[in-house]
This record gives sequence, structure tokens and C-alpha cells, in this order.
Amino acid sequence: MSRFFSGKYDKLVPYTPGEQPRILNLVKLNTNECPFPPSEKALQYAGEHTRPLNLYSDIEGVEVRRALAELCGLRPENLILGNGSDEILNFAFMAFCDEAHPAAFPDISYGFYPVFADLNRIPYTEIPLRTGFRVAPEDYYGLGRTIFIANPNAPTGLALTRAEAEEIVKRNPGNVVVIDEAYVDFGGESCIPLVEKYENLLVVQTFSKSRSMAGARLGFAAGSAALIRDLNTIKFSTNPYNVNSMTLALGLGVLMDEETTRKNCRTVMENRAYTVRELESLGFEVLPSAANFLFVRSDRIGGGELYEKLRARAVLVRHFDKERIKDYNRITVGTREQMDILLKNIREILEDMP
Ligand code: PMP
Repeated sequence: MSRFFSGKYDKLVPYTPGEQPRILNLVKLNTNECPFPPSEKALQYAGEHTRPLNLYSDIEGVEVRRALAELCGLRPENLILGNGSDEILNFAFMAFCDEAHPAAFPDISYGFYPVFADLNRIPYTEIPLRTGFRVAPEDYYGLGRTIFIANPNAPTGLALTRAEAEEIVKRNPGNVVVIDEAYVDFGGESCIPLVEKYENLLVVQTFSKSRSMAGARLGFAAGSAALIRDLNTIKFSTNPYNVNSMTLALGLGVLMDEETTRKNCRTVMENRAYTVRELESLGFEVLPSAANFLFVRSDRIGGGELYEKLRARAVLVRHFDKERIKDYNRITVGTREQMDILLKNIREILEDMP
């Protein structure tokens, strides 16, 4: 830290993103990206429709919001775009949390929530997950706090039903409830249909997972027009041109090819079911996942050891050192070929165990 770094960040521990190493022929299953690139159709559209790059990008992302509004059954006023959904989550912490409205989220969830809270000096409570890593909706009723819930949750993959999430929103009428649906397209139930019913509901989604755009950075939030206006106040006070023109064009291209998105999600879900069966036959405990990743452990090998041994074989999964989950690894579901390489290596590692 330089002697110039503000003391207000004394205690800030930044988020640790999954590694992006340059290992030859790496099977990368550590950051829940989509294994398929954007479709040719989407890329071609982006190539032909990117606004001239000497001009600023469309500050309101009008066309993407219009297309999303149609997809979500909402109006463009209910939507805001972000430079990835991380940016929108940060905007939500800035807009809807303070000393009087502290934050609350599960103790095992997306690791960025406590970082955003600390960055913005917002007090927060971490609510312990119940047995089996379950988010118990009743733990969130009438909390008097701004609530952040990843649904499906990360890194567990477990999902609440829409009815369970709705009950949390309904029982916190005086506070904003943010439902982070980064992984919803792989089998979860979206709360977007509830947006018009609850003025305190904000649903955040991303183009990084099901829409193959992690590197292009595009996320969005859906909420009442009033909540979206608040987020826009933050956006226009930090970075009005937060989404660049290439990303806007690609986002529109991807939205015009929903068929490919649906097909890719179906393939990932099939590969997920296949990988679950194979891992279970090897004695792994696999949490029921509604996401594009699996959270797994085995009595035959520790979480850290499996992670290291896979890494040495150029297969990268995600391991968290946190006490309650250190026996586990989070494995992104990729192509069938990637899953077969993963499984082959796990079999060999287990065979080599004493
Ligand atoms: N929410 C959750 C639960 C995530 O796992 C991620 C991906 N790390 C994000 C939000 C942010 O994704 P992005 O910024 O790429 O939209």
C-alpha cells in the first residue's frame, strides 16, 4: 500500500476472482463461464452494428433494454444495464444500503457481497446457511435489512423456488431485496415475473454465463421504475458510459439469437446430469445443482488435495479455503469433452491414492 492510499480502505480485503492462468491445453472449469462462444449470428450482428468507436456508447443502452424488456415482459424503464452484473450489485449496495439499512446475505454465498459492503462501509450480517447448505427463507423474514440472495446460490448451486423467494420479498416490505440470478438459466425459477408486483424487488442477471459474454461484460437489473431511477443516479454519478458500444451490439446480437442461448443451456444441463451420475458412481457427494456448476466432495480425497492434483494435470476447478466448505470443490460444467477429461483425471487421481 502506498502512503497515499486512503485510510478509509484500511480493512478492505478485495475479492479474489478465479484464476485465469495461461496453461497450455488447460481445461478451465473454475469461473463458471459458458463453454460455447457467442454464435456466429450474434458475432456477425455485432460486427455490422457496433456504433462508431470514436463516438461515446449509447448511454441508456436503448436497444438492448428494449429487447430485454420484450424478453422479460417488462418496460424499458424497469431495466438498467451494467458493466457485468458485479457493477450493478455494487450500485445496489451504494443505492440501497447504509448505517440505517445494513445489508444481510447468507454466510456462504457470492464472495463479492462482503467486499461491496466493506468498500462502501456498510455494516452487514451473514446469515448462516442451514444443514445441507440450505437457504431457509424464514431466516430472512422481517429482517429490517437490505437483503442479497444469489438464487441459485453460489458456490452451492442450490435454488429457492420462486414462491420461497417471493415470501422473502413480501415479508420485507420496508427493505429492498436483491435476487442475484446469475445462474438462473440453468434450471432456476426467475423472480422477474414478480417485478411488477413488488416495488422492493430488484432482480439482477448477467450475460456472462448462459449468454457466453463473460469477457464482454454485460449485466442488467430489473425492478420498479423507482428502483431503476435510483440505480441510474448512482450510475450517472460514477460512470455514465458504463457499457461499451461493442458489448451493446453483441448483447443485442445474442438477444436476437435466443434459440442458441436455450440450446447451450440445455446442453450444459445434460452435461451436468451426466457428470453428476459419473461423480456419484465414483463415490462423490454432489449437491443438487440448478446452476452451471457442481459443488462436490469425497471421503476418498480432501478438497484442497483434489484441487491441487487436478491443477497439476491442467484441469482447473475452484476451491475455497473457508472452513465450512474446504472439503468441497466447485466444478464448472463445460462441454462433454471437458467433462470426460475431468472425470478421467479424477479416476486416475483416485486410483493413485494410497
Ligand atoms: N453473481 C454471482 C452469484 C456470480 O457468481 C457472479 C460471477 N462471478 C456474478 C454475480 C457476476 O458476474 P458478472 O459480473 O460477470 O455479470
